[in-house]
Amino acid sequence: MKVILLRFGELYLKGHNRNIFENTLIQNIKNSLTGETFSFSKTFGRYVISDYDEKRQDEIVSKLKKVFGLYSLSIAEEVDAQLETIKQVVSNIKIGKQSFKVFVKRADKTFPLSSMELARELGGVVLDNNNESTVDLYNPQREIYVDIRLNHKAYIFDEIIKCQGGLPLGTSGKGLLLLSGGIDSPVAGYLMAKRGMTLEALHFHSYPYTSEQARDKVIELARLLCEYVGEIKLHIVSFARVQEEIHKRCKSEFMITIMRRIMMRVAERLCKANNLGAIITGESLGQVASQTMQSMTVTGNVVKELPVFRPCIAMDKEDIIAVSKDIDTYETSILPYEDCCTVFLPKNPVIKPTIKQAEQEESYLNIDSLVEECINREEVITIRKDS
Ligand code: ATP
Ligand code: MG
Repeated sequence: MKVILLRFGELYLKGHNRNIFENTLIQNIKNSLTGETFSFSKTFGRYVISDYDEKRQDEIVSKLKKVFGLYSLSIAEEVDAQLETIKQVVSNIKIGKQSFKVFVKRADKTFPLSSMELARELGGVVLDNNNESTVDLYNPQREIYVDIRLNHKAYIFDEIIKCQGGLPLGTSGKGLLLLSGGIDSPVAGYLMAKRGMTLEALHFHSYPYTSEQARDKVIELARLLCEYVGEIKLHIVSFARVQEEIHKRCKSEFMITIMRRIMMRVAERLCKANNLGAIITGESLGQVASQTMQSMTVTGNVVKELPVFRPCIAMDKEDIIAVSKDIDTYETSILPYEDCCTVFLPKNPVIKPTIKQAEQEESYLNIDSLVEECINREEVITIRKDS
């Protein structure tokens, strides 16, 4: 019987959290296959998807590849773990002139042959059926895997397909992603989700300074992230008034610093109101003036009770871009609609602001009422995968 064999990280499957992790992962796997027919079973150390529509195998595999907590999968032939039956399957493998190696794993120690003995025996079967082939133990062109599990089944496959890794979504609480229209913040959201964190998102727009398309772009980015997180509640907040006020009353080089501090305050308020445990941004050290250590000290300083996670902090732009291409947000991110931050961009933003300077500039504003206005005028859209 053809099946999909799933492997998951074993590190976290220890201690009393094990059940929560495992149940969440299994539920997420099943949810990812909503709309497909399949059976699911568990054997120690592996999950098995069977009875699925083989014509939809590629789609099913690509859905499973987006489930955090799965490390790899293989399309395998499942048979009873008996020597003759296994040999029968292996005898059908056609590899022409290519060299090969047989890898045997034997979780079921009651199987009569040792791993080495079985590998040798099966190697002989492959050679008998592929006259021109040779065994190459060090650099084989083809790999043949036989995995004998504790359920007394053997799984025979020729490929190990890498999956996401990470922790099952939903096992690390919920965070608020500050989602701009850029490349970095969707990547930041994805990286935190990969550590098991579900997401809500917050976007600031400056309509009418920014366009309707800029907003649609962010909605589309959230939708693309839903491929991994299923659903995102997106908070959209108008920032034009705040920007006008800062522009009017503060030194222009502090524009971005003060904007960021107000964004962070709004973010923390929304976290409290929506029971979210962390703020997530796409900042990367040294990328621009607002992302120096000093700038992040000054913006982070207004967040009183929550951690600010910046998963891209140590990544080069090229590596961030590589991830954004992998998760398919890149093409949308580079669409040329202006972000709210570019609208009132000062010529010479401060690179090393201090908290004292920022507080001085803010004394010309009514911060509380600006934050309040943002919160009062938020619009919320729930975005789902396939919507
Ligand atoms: P990105 O590519 O994510 O836009 P960036 O390199 O352009 O990042 P900045 O514009 O300095 O960097 O923004 C830094 C971070 O601040 C972003 O990653 C995002 O988390 C947050 N941010 C910036 N602009 C907005 C916005 N309009 N709405 C929500 N969050 C924002
Ligand atoms: Mg940006």
